[in-house]
Amino acid sequence: MKTTEIMARLQAKYPTEKEYLQAVQEVLESIEDVYNQHPEFEKAKIVERLVEPDRIFTFRVTWIDDNGEVQTNLGYRVQFNSAIGPYKGGLRFHKAVTPSMLKFLGFEQTFKNALTTLPMGGAKGGSDFDPVGKSNAEIMRFCQAFMLELWRCIGPDQDIPAGDVGVGGREIGFLNGMYQKLARQYHTGVLTGKGATWGGSILRPEATGFGALYFTQHLLHKAGKDLAGQKICISGFGNVAWGAVMKATQLGAKVVAISGPDGVCHVPDGMTPEMNDYMLDMRASNRNMVEDLATKFPEKVKFIAGKKAWSIPCDIALPCAFQNELSEDDAKELKANGCWCCCEVSNMGCQPGAIHFFQNNGVLFAPGKAVNAGGVATSGLEMTQNAAHLSWSAQEVDDKLHWIMESIHEQCVKYGTRPDGSVDYVKGANIAGFMKVAQAMLEQGTI
Ligand code: GLU
Repeated sequence: MKTTEIMARLQAKYPTEKEYLQAVQEVLESIEDVYNQHPEFEKAKIVERLVEPDRIFTFRVTWIDDNGEVQTNLGYRVQFNSAIGPYKGGLRFHKAVTPSMLKFLGFEQTFKNALTTLPMGGAKGGSDFDPVGKSNAEIMRFCQAFMLELWRCIGPDQDIPAGDVGVGGREIGFLNGMYQKLARQYHTGVLTGKGATWGGSILRPEATGFGALYFTQHLLHKAGKDLAGQKICISGFGNVAWGAVMKATQLGAKVVAISGPDGVCHVPDGMTPEMNDYMLDMRASNRNMVEDLATKFPEKVKFIAGKKAWSIPCDIALPCAFQNELSEDDAKELKANGCWCCCEVSNMGCQPGAIHFFQNNGVLFAPGKAVNAGGVATSGLEMTQNAAHLSWSAQEVDDKLHWIMESIHEQCVKYGTRPDGSVDYVKGANIAGFMKVAQAMLEQGTI
């Protein structure tokens, strides 16, 4: 297998699908050497099969807004790979959603899910619906209309969607309500991220952020450091950032910045539990403005319009917002301001130039598919609880999440350790995830 040849073919076939091509390139570069030591993979054309989704559903979603106007959006579900388990992955509602974005996310999800140690295949879905400025009633009507189409494609042993950008507990509630009405049979485990009283796992809302901090702690310990006392900058103020702020603070770090599309909030003394709680109101308002934090806590928070979180000096950067949100220039600014570690929490949050800069300039770096896997892992734990018709305590879920993040870290170390003893976490995560999926495909024949 030659990465350059496969990429040339994919580029000719999908010339406009930039995010998808970027994600595939990163994985193929990492696995090329290992792959070529396995002639059985080459013979079965594993890579050629693995880079294409199993299938993509595209559908029209029509709904009525609060002014009585008819609105039409597009909905998608990309079922990427089911070699190790049923399709599993979130739904993203964002105005920029395209098939390319969902293909890259489904591809990443396949390897991420393989790393969790749980039997889950990869999928992703969503819509170009823009939740910003929408009322609660509009969100409900959109979710119901979306599920009218999606429900035929999913099921507890088939494909289990969850949240992602623009889809949280509220949206999962509306989606689940419509699904159960259409199915006329209660399938508890058809969506994850449900409310705790109707089949949701305790700690699922916190899990992506908590898992990211557990992973970061392992990475720091391996490098002889600790989270306590470190200054952290976080981008975003959605569900993932909320959990990350909470766990970072609990572990003794100081979150000195969170950011949004309008700018950055600088919090020199660190985020407090009250500010952390207020992040939930900021998300629920659908205003998408981080400035609201400074308006609420004017004495402790300074808002800087138009700036990113990466302009605030810190030890550790945690991108928690969107793909490609951290550029090479941002990486240089972070390093110049003293940052020595970046754990990517958003999916593909760092541009390739930023990753290369970090890796070549002594900044510890770990990729999203390892760092943020605690979210989908806890979805997997939710599926287990649903299948067994019971619910575990917070302690039980947290212990399992801890163990899973430690195991993901170990897999990265196993496959990513360089001759000098340092760890290439990108390579480690990609090879570990790939080997599991490739082996499963091989054992199940040419299908
Ligand atoms: N959207 C999340 C992710 O990127 C969670 C998916 C899930 O829980 O299925 O992994």
